[in-house]
Amino acid sequence: MANLSIELTAPNGVKYTQPTGLFINNEFVASSKGELIESIDPATESKIAEVHAASEEDVDKAVQAARAALKHESWKHLPGTDRGILMAKLADLLEEQKELFATIDAWDNGKPYSVALSEDLPEAIGTIRYYSGWADKTFGQTISTTSAKFAYTIRQPIGVIGQIIPWNYPLSMAAWKLGPALACGNTIVIKAAEQTPLSILVLATLIKKAGFPPGVVNIINGYGREAGAALVQHPLVDKIAFTGSTATASQIMKMASGTLKNITLETGGKSPLLVFNDCDLEQAVKWSHAGIMSNKGEICTATSRILVQQDIYEKFLEKFKVQVKDVSKVGDQWDSETFQGPQVTRTQYDRILSFIEAGKSEGATVLCGGGAREGKGFFIQPTVFTDVKDTMRIYREEIFGPVVTISSFSTEDEAVDRANDTTYGLGASVFTKDLERAHRVAAEIEAGMVWINSSQDCDFRIPFGGVKQSGIGRELGEAGLEGYTQIKAVHVNMGTKL
Ligand code: ADP
Repeated sequence: MANLSIELTAPNGVKYTQPTGLFINNEFVASSKGELIESIDPATESKIAEVHAASEEDVDKAVQAARAALKHESWKHLPGTDRGILMAKLADLLEEQKELFATIDAWDNGKPYSVALSEDLPEAIGTIRYYSGWADKTFGQTISTTSAKFAYTIRQPIGVIGQIIPWNYPLSMAAWKLGPALACGNTIVIKAAEQTPLSILVLATLIKKAGFPPGVVNIINGYGREAGAALVQHPLVDKIAFTGSTATASQIMKMASGTLKNITLETGGKSPLLVFNDCDLEQAVKWSHAGIMSNKGEICTATSRILVQQDIYEKFLEKFKVQVKDVSKVGDQWDSETFQGPQVTRTQYDRILSFIEAGKSEGATVLCGGGAREGKGFFIQPTVFTDVKDTMRIYREEIFGPVVTISSFSTEDEAVDRANDTTYGLGASVFTKDLERAHRVAAEIEAGMVWINSSQDCDFRIPFGGVKQSGIGRELGEAGLEGYTQIKAVHVNMGTKL
């Protein structure tokens, strides 16, 4: 029997037992083919652990477990209120161990421990807790038609949900997916990203401890092309909920068409941030810096295209440069001074560096940064480009790193047109003190979310998602429940007299 856990000591001294198997039917099992995924500390490039990677056969086992749980009375007939109690318990258990989870995600992903603890964990805990409250509040309607008939609707779970999550917020992305799906009574097979496979397996131990019946939540690691694709194509999976790149989302949509699967997609972005002459400049600089440089720029909603009105353009550049120098401290996950940790993997690091090279060779000016940090680890200097043309790759393509372009504009119409000149439509920011302009621009911008005098606000009570090629459907808030229920209409004939 394979050894399915390993004792680890993180660089901050935290010791814990890391499960390494696939969590199916509330038990850890080995992968059928023995394939493994290696997890790397991006600051040191050394191996943290190896975990089991699901094969197609393993995915099938997980799906069968979820299918059986869906029909099992311990879940099917569990009142919504009791489902909510299980979820609230899960949130409590997560909270009890928040330091451990923050340690694992910092180690595996490269984000500062302090950020994982103060941002990722409250978000994950808050999301599960928020949706625990919805578990007994999703119901249908009674609709009168004629005096002889009426109809009512029931909101039922969709069934077995395949969830595929990315590596930039490992635990909170899992919570965003698990919360609404469980609240609505579905069963789940969730696959973590191969770059960050660790924390979700510790979460699995809490699923069992909280008391969820076997098979309700199955947690697997695995490679996208193998395990991810098998999940998407499995005929007994009713829906796929995906967060990741637009290119992968497009493949998923194609594969899901085979069985006409319901899908929600949360994908890439190249979100604009507009700064008008009449803004509070200090605030604009502070938020626009955070909007791209937080989480190493590995944020789908990152406001990576800054457009500044021409009268204040030079002043904005000066202040932005100072902000990068003062705030963007690059370092490892454990230094409390660190603002920007290492990029998640060598692949991402190389990709970002190649974008920086493209920017230089296409003729943009490097205002600051412009390369890697010397030494071990996937560290990149926060990089700002000016003299950027709207046709350049660094202006058009999602870089997913600490790289931003800052251009100038003259009129509001021009700013809105250029903001919308993209295939993406995830987030957008507008900085102005003019109330009318703020709301006018917010309405005109093609994006799923707009921040007025801010960037990156994200709250489990508020819908999150994109338009255009940034996604389909919404997560979080009440809107997030739509993706996990289906409405059944029941027609009632009251009699034969009419
Ligand atoms: P990135 O390019 O940033 O790594 P991806 O969109 O490729 O992002 O990955 C996000 C998630 O999608 C991961 O869990 C990954 O394993 C999964 N994935 C990647 N390729 C596929 C695929 N062809 N089918 C299903 N899932 C996939």
